[in-house]
Amino acid sequence: MSLLSRDIKFVGGVGEARARLLDREIGVRTIADLIYRFPYRYIDRSRILRIDEVDESMDSTYIQLRCRVVGFAYSGELRKRRFMVECSDATGSCELVWFHGIKWIERRLEVGREYLIFGRPSFFRSRLSIIHPDIEPIEQALSRKQQSGFQGIYASTERLSEAIGVKTMHTIVHNAWQLIAAEKDAIRDPLPEDMRRRNGLMSLYDALYNIHFPQSAERLREAQYRLKYDELLGVQLTIQARRSERKARNDGFLFPRVGEAFNAFYHTKLPFSLTAAQQRVIKEIRGDMLSGRQMNRLLQGDVGSGKTMVAFMSMLLAVDNGFQACIMAPTEILARQHYASMSRFAEGIGVRVAILTGASKTRERSTAIEGIASGDIDILIGTHALIEDKVQFANLGYVVIDEQHRFGVEQRAKLWTKNLQPPHILVMTATPIPRTLAMTLYGDLEVSVIDELPPGRKPIRTFHYYDSARLRMFGFLREEIAKGRQVYIVYPLIKESEKMDYKDLYDGFESISRDFPLPQYRTTVCHGKMKNEDKEAAMAQFKRGEADILVATSVIEVGVDVPNATVMVIESAERFGLSQLHQLRGRVGRGGEQSYCILMSGDKLSKESRARLDAMCATNDGFELSELDLKLRGAGDIHGTQQSGDAFELNIANLATDTQIMQLTRDEAIAILDKDPKLERAENTLLAELRERHRKREKIDFSNIS
Ligand code: ADP
Ligand code: MG
Repeated sequence: MSLLSRDIKFVGGVGEARARLLDREIGVRTIADLIYRFPYRYIDRSRILRIDEVDESMDSTYIQLRCRVVGFAYSGELRKRRFMVECSDATGSCELVWFHGIKWIERRLEVGREYLIFGRPSFFRSRLSIIHPDIEPIEQALSRKQQSGFQGIYASTERLSEAIGVKTMHTIVHNAWQLIAAEKDAIRDPLPEDMRRRNGLMSLYDALYNIHFPQSAERLREAQYRLKYDELLGVQLTIQARRSERKARNDGFLFPRVGEAFNAFYHTKLPFSLTAAQQRVIKEIRGDMLSGRQMNRLLQGDVGSGKTMVAFMSMLLAVDNGFQACIMAPTEILARQHYASMSRFAEGIGVRVAILTGASKTRERSTAIEGIASGDIDILIGTHALIEDKVQFANLGYVVIDEQHRFGVEQRAKLWTKNLQPPHILVMTATPIPRTLAMTLYGDLEVSVIDELPPGRKPIRTFHYYDSARLRMFGFLREEIAKGRQVYIVYPLIKESEKMDYKDLYDGFESISRDFPLPQYRTTVCHGKMKNEDKEAAMAQFKRGEADILVATSVIEVGVDVPNATVMVIESAERFGLSQLHQLRGRVGRGGEQSYCILMSGDKLSKESRARLDAMCATNDGFELSELDLKLRGAGDIHGTQQSGDAFELNIANLATDTQIMQLTRDEAIAILDKDPKLERAENTLLAELRERHRKREKIDFSNIS
């Protein structure tokens, strides 16, 4: 058995009890598990501070202190006991506090002696105090031979840190490393010499050593780079292998004909000319449909860029070749809207369209289900209802999924299995997925981008008002409504506080319909708790221009199309995420008129909220916003990955910032797989292991999704 896979309990300082705890709390069982958990930050030990140098902004600090007085104090209703130690140095005094482990610390502390203290400074009535510090007699601390001037700090849990403090953890890692250092070849480098040289990478041994015990800031950077490189290479080896497997399969439906339906629509019904971007994407889709391979394409296009038309025209390609197509929308409202426009498009060109949603009444249901089974229906539009077992297509050739992030992975997989031969799949999203993330998550999908809005659109102007400027906002709405325009006012809806949110919404609705300076405005309301019919009635009323103001929760987020609406007011905008704000803003600016988005917020904003609102005011570019979103929130949180979990759990690499390494590893991975597609050659054994490590962490197999 290799050293790395040996049980952690044999490492000095661990033993049975701590090994159990390490396993339970952080899943560390072997020496490899321990060595591959990297510090999340480092303390520069060369910096031991004096009391007057410590301030509140510091996460933690070292101080050299003399112990003056020890004693107990009691506080709180439960008269909770705590152990207090008064300490000082030449510049002042401070307090150390323990709530538990008191006996242990009491035995070890001696009044009059000097200690090296490590902990997180806090200030109570402007006096420095440190709760549960690490503590070590100064002679001992200074005499100990240091592995490194930097001390790594490892993520821990509350339980674990009680038993194994910062310093002990450091000692355990140190002891583990002694074992590794003593055994030749304990760490074998998966990357061949020439590849390391080409990419300027240090050896794996040096990288692991320096990540735990950095010999200098420079060596630490090199170590981080090397370890990120390994992680992303593992990811790319998985993705690129999958991509070539998929490309090698030859089971895609062939749609060679551009026939009557497409041509009739194009020449007689198309209500506008397509943008160059729309034309290009339709060509790309058609190319896939002629390739003999199953299409798996992600279509990214900002809100309002005209994805629906691309979906419809590409569905006509399927119909012209004798196949059925379906489009699945995330909400009832959106499905109805697609149905309304697509049945209009389909009229007179011999294409039969039906709708099926959860709210479909008996007749609508049976028309859809029977028609789709017999082949009488060409295009089925709907919601999740499309994946019910009852829905059996006669010959489904093409599936479009609108606003991809609303669908769970399993739902998509289910659609897939409706056919023996997989249909072509187009996933459309208006939430631009940052390039780096797209490369990871969808590295095996083709990506199309609509990077152009239909002509005549004026960029939306966005403003941020504090609640105190509410009257000004109302004044502005009055002007716009006077010009005959319509207004959305949107309230946040966050699951945990649903009740409160609805109260906000209704309070807002009431005050708008009652107190709004000109009460003759026609106001209507729409939210997720309403019955579908009522929701639709409200939306329809607004769409027909029979209401000036639509007060809503974020149910309107996705896809609603009312070109005459020119103002989007977002209440408590600080509670929305960036991509949601951008989606909501996309509801206006759909006609030729100048449109506005007004972000209302409370007066006190966190740094992140402010950054989000500032970004919204600064740009209309969804891609720019999504890159920023990724930086602010981290990759796991981005729409589209949320429901699916992170595809890869990365230890050290960062999808937002390590774009360059991602690109480099991608090229290397392709080159490696070109020569050895399955990584079967002897010289690639370690690379196969490297990849395996990531596969294990990977929760979802994206190749079977869409
Ligand atoms: P999204 O990409 O957000 O789904 P839609 O498909 O709903 O956008 O299109 C937004 C609006 O733009 C719709 O009213 C649609 O009819 C219109 N539209 C789409 N393509 C064009 C075009 N080439 N020229 C003019 N208007 C267009
Ligand atoms: Mg849309």
